[in-house]
Amino acid sequence: MPEIPGSSIAAFCKKCEKDTTHTVLEVVEGGKRLGKVRCNVCRDEHPFRRPKARVKGEKPAKEPRAAKPRKSSKSRGPQEIPAGEAWRQVEAMVNAASKVPYEMTRMYDKGEVIEHPQFGVGVVVAVLSPTKVEVLFSTVRRKLVCGKAG
Ligand SMILES: [Zn+2]
Repeated sequence: MPEIPGSSIAAFCKKCEKDTTHTVLEVVEGGKRLGKVRCNVCRDEHPFRRPKARVKGEKPAKEPRAAKPRKSSKSRGPQEIPAGEAWRQVEAMVNAASKVPYEMTRMYDKGEVIEHPQFGVGVVVAVLSPTKVEVLFSTVRRKLVCGKAG
């Protein structure tokens, strides 16, 4: 499954010393591999590390985590990667993929490439609910309705 900048993924964070949810900041090889990710907990940016699958018999987390004060005061939204930049990283993958026309009644999966009558070609970044997907187009991100019966 191709990865798309701005989407969420589980990865291992060295600072948190555990698997946390990360935001994909960068992909390489046209979306085939993950580049840089950012921990949603401590906001540390680092290359993607596979989540450490829970190994049984391993010692549990040693300390109860205390709420750490955030060192950065700037509160930017979770989608600070400009659509245009994210788009450039997956453009080759999108161009090579087969496109499906956007229809409200259809269901889409993450990574699917669609063709929208208004916005053009886009790639599904996230499935938000059974009837809503987030799609990255070349200049903008949009939440689109999908899977509507009828
Ligand atoms: Zn972290």
